[in-house]
This record gives sequence, structure tokens and C-alpha cells, in this order.
Amino acid sequence: MPLHTYKVVLNSRYGGFSVSRECAKELSSVCSHHTYLEEGELQDLHEHEEYRECPDLVARVESAPEWASGPYSKLRVEEVLLRYGIKDHDGKEEVYYGY
Ligand SMILES: [Zn+2]
Repeated sequence: MPLHTYKVVLNSRYGGFSVSRECAKELSSVCSHHTYLEEGELQDLHEHEEYRECPDLVARVESAPEWASGPYSKLRVEEVLLRYGIKDHDGKEEVYYGY
């Protein structure tokens, strides 16, 4: 069965996921996972599930986790595994997932 691994960023501390101001500022120049509020303030969007795989975020959390973590967060990188196979029903195929 083919195995794929994805790196995702998780928060290890109660209080919620957040990226530090410095890290968010740096990410704003290399990826598009942010928005600007009306007042012109930067809002980082990496807390959303779909952006946790962002390679720019993953690289920063891997190399400097304390610097990358917001005030009430402790960010870490975890590897997610996805294994799948192809099931054959008399020649007609479908994908199934395993662990
Ligand atoms: Zn990003």
C-alpha cells in the first residue's frame, strides 16, 4: 500500500493555536495565508485547518518553535500518515484507506 506523509503544525498547549507576531509578519511576505483587516492590521490565517500544512509555516516551526509560537501557544510539527490501496471488484477499481 502506498504511504504518504504530510507535516502539519499543531499546538501543544491549552489556550489555542497562534503564530507569533514576528513569525506572522515573516510569513506574510512568503505565503498568501493572511488577510488585512480594515485598519490595515495583518491577520494570520494559519490557525485554519487547511493551512496547517503550509510548508513555510512548517519550516519555521521546525527550525524555531519558540520563536514561531504565539504567546499562549506551543507549536510543534507532527507527521500525518496516509496509506491507501486500490480495491478491485471484477476489474472495476476504487480507493480504500488504511492506517
Ligand atoms: Zn502559509
